[in-house]
Amino acid sequence: MSFFNSIGRTMTRAQRAPKRSPTPTSTTLSPTESLPSPALTSPITQPHKPLFLCSPFVEAALVKGNFKTIVMLPKYVDIMEWVAVNVFDFYNHLNEFYGVITECCTQHGCPTMSAGPTLNYTWINQDRKNVNLPAPTYIDYVMTWVQNLLDDENVFPTKSGQDFPPNFPSTVKHIYRQLLRVFAHIYHAHYSQILHLRSEPHFNSLFAHFLAFGREYELLELKDVKGSPTSPVGIGALWEKWKEMGILEG
Ligand SMILES: [Zn+2]
Repeated sequence: MSFFNSIGRTMTRAQRAPKRSPTPTSTTLSPTESLPSPALTSPITQPHKPLFLCSPFVEAALVKGNFKTIVMLPKYVDIMEWVAVNVFDFYNHLNEFYGVITECCTQHGCPTMSAGPTLNYTWINQDRKNVNLPAPTYIDYVMTWVQNLLDDENVFPTKSGQDFPPNFPSTVKHIYRQLLRVFAHIYHAHYSQILHLRSEPHFNSLFAHFLAFGREYELLELKDVKGSPTSPVGIGALWEKWKEMGILEG
């Protein structure tokens, strides 16, 4: 049995966390109220530096050291199957994280798919026009689209002897680019909730693994990780920091 087939039986539709009412409640966290602002306690600190770049959060990790060995293709495993199974895992883990913070990602709190102080991702609608969508809508579209692809035997075959389609690499690149945007939004807009849950070591390791894997198999463009000089992606600085720390390769 092939490596990918071994997980095929468990490829059932992931349970998306039920969406709560978008109406804010007293227990709903907002990006600014779950942790005290550093500016309130120390006027010297840089108020604009995102928390995910600050110590000790930037160093928090479940996996210590470089991710190179984790992403390497195991002996006797087909590269397509290796990419497929990893994308399947990244999607499911990210979906679980988003499910936990979904009540904080509301149309009101996140009216755009923000990923940096001057960056909002737009969605291309049926008329090929770029439109702003609230982040929860954008992310719901992305996650439903990816889930449908994962469930499609013609795109992600799970039976032995069935080949991957010729456009599999370009499909996976497209998926990767959209999942990167979901990571970028969570880091930019919901990192305080990740901290509130004490999940930053897990989330950082998931994202570092995602980045290392994407670079190793050329699924990620650096321009998508960093953004443009006028609209940088918040997590672009995290990528640079982790490279400095030796967690990621260049
Ligand atoms: Zn949000």
